[in-house]
Amino acid sequence: MSGPYDYFDYKKNELQTEGVALARVAERVGTPVYVYSTAALLSPLRELQRGLKGLDALVCFAVKSNSNLSVLRLLAKAGAGMDVVSGGELFRARRAGIPGKKIVFSGVGKTVREIEEALRGGIFSFNVESAAELSAIQSVAARLGKSASVALRFNPDVDAKTHPYISTGLRKNKFGLEKREILALVREYRRFPRVRIRGISIHIGSQLLELAPLADSFARLRSLAGEIEPLLGEPLRFLDLGGGVGISYGDERSPSISAYCALIRKNFSDSKRLLLEPGRLIAGNSGVLLSRVLYRKEKKTKDFLVIDAGMNDLLRPALYGSRHAVVPLLKKPGKSGRSACIVGPVCESADCFAENAALPENLAGGDLIALLSCGAYGFTMASCYNSRPRPPEVLVDRGKFRVIRKRESYADLIQGESS
Ligand SMILES: *Cc1c(COP(=O)(O)O)cnc(C)c1O
Repeated sequence: MSGPYDYFDYKKNELQTEGVALARVAERVGTPVYVYSTAALLSPLRELQRGLKGLDALVCFAVKSNSNLSVLRLLAKAGAGMDVVSGGELFRARRAGIPGKKIVFSGVGKTVREIEEALRGGIFSFNVESAAELSAIQSVAARLGKSASVALRFNPDVDAKTHPYISTGLRKNKFGLEKREILALVREYRRFPRVRIRGISIHIGSQLLELAPLADSFARLRSLAGEIEPLLGEPLRFLDLGGGVGISYGDERSPSISAYCALIRKNFSDSKRLLLEPGRLIAGNSGVLLSRVLYRKEKKTKDFLVIDAGMNDLLRPALYGSRHAVVPLLKKPGKSGRSACIVGPVCESADCFAENAALPENLAGGDLIALLSCGAYGFTMASCYNSRPRPPEVLVDRGKFRVIRKRESYADLIQGESS
């Protein structure tokens, strides 16, 4: 199981990763700043690869969880492919040097332009989400004189038991095709001569804390594949098992990678190629967001700690009500004080990171803190709301660190605007 303290812990009362004191990064680069650990990024990828050894499996990192070029390149060098959901992500993956044949394209709303870019880039496969999309791929492929390899995204109608905003595998969700729709498409296969149906894909949701819904959907996927193959007249080449395995943000228990791999082995031991699309599982606990306390605002019932990171820098708490552990970068002696509400500077009441953080009483303006488990869906969801430039990103590797994305400037904020 992946937890917030696996790669970030205290040495001599200083929060550090890979031998780098995070206070040093904050002093040098300023706050707010995202900091990732190389070892933490590589470890889950390698564990997945080891756990699936002997199977023809490719781990395609979900680029939307952390799309920094240096992060993508690091994972690609360790053998990962990429799962992209937009032309912009495809552009990033190609820029990071990932070959087209290791890229899959997911998402419900691919545009003609994106389909064209993907076909020209020679991607491995499209995960197709509707009959209309299949027609669009057919016509773009015909126009370019190419053929397109696709997997049909199956919505297995299982309850992922996660937050409704990140649940995708129920019939009521916008994602995927129902079984009867898939069977109908396969029967009409001749209408799509430029399309090769090579696989079936699933992805039932994110931050899954139990494997049972995945086990359920794997069984349904297997049985659907068995029904489709006789209609296709040839075996499917691959199955895409999606992502979604959750991590621990603090107290919750999350599935272990070994149990996840065992579940995959139990269900899919035949010779078909397997793709995985983990995002959070790889990046989630690889990064933290460092911030400085601006003010302690004392109120009658509780104190507010106003910090210099806001919901524009880290959206998850405001969007999903998710909670990140908050810890000081320097442990000072002192009793743990009145519970404090940690809030950002953005003009929204939703700009709140913790209602009742148990932080030391003497933590005050000027002190540094870290929000943990921010490696996935952190920077990628950042915006410039309130005209706040987006924070920099830093990568730590064995005692050294480097800026892998500069802090945005005021000039960046107005780039492309006319006055
Ligand atoms: C978001 C997404 C993923 C990654 O989800 P995680 O929960 O980060 O593992 C994988 N596949 C698809 C199709 C997605 O939309």
